[in-house]
This record gives sequence, C-alpha cells and structure tokens, in this order.
Amino acid sequence: MPTCKQCGSTLETADLVRHEAGDLLMVHCPECQRLMGTYREPGYNR
Ligand SMILES: [Zn+2]
Repeated sequence: MPTCKQCGSTLETADLVRHEAGDLLMVHCPECQRLMGTYREPGYNR
C-alpha cells in the first residue's frame, strides 16, 4: 500500500488518481496531487 511522502496519506492503489501518458500510467495522490509513480502498461487498451 503506497504512502504519500508529501502529505503522509496512506492510500489504496485504487484511490490514486490516474493519468495516461501514451503507454505510461502516472498515478497521483488524491489529497495533494503529488506524483506517486509511473507505470508502463504494455498491454493496456482503451
Ligand atoms: Zn499526498
């Protein structure tokens, strides 16, 4: 379970705000919008 290093929130993966950037998936903290991570989803289809 990820913890935001900026606001200290402990978050469920499902609660993260997701943004697609090409074939990358970026996830942000829903509380402070800090970038939490970037994931590659090679098999991702819209
Ligand atoms: Zn945060």
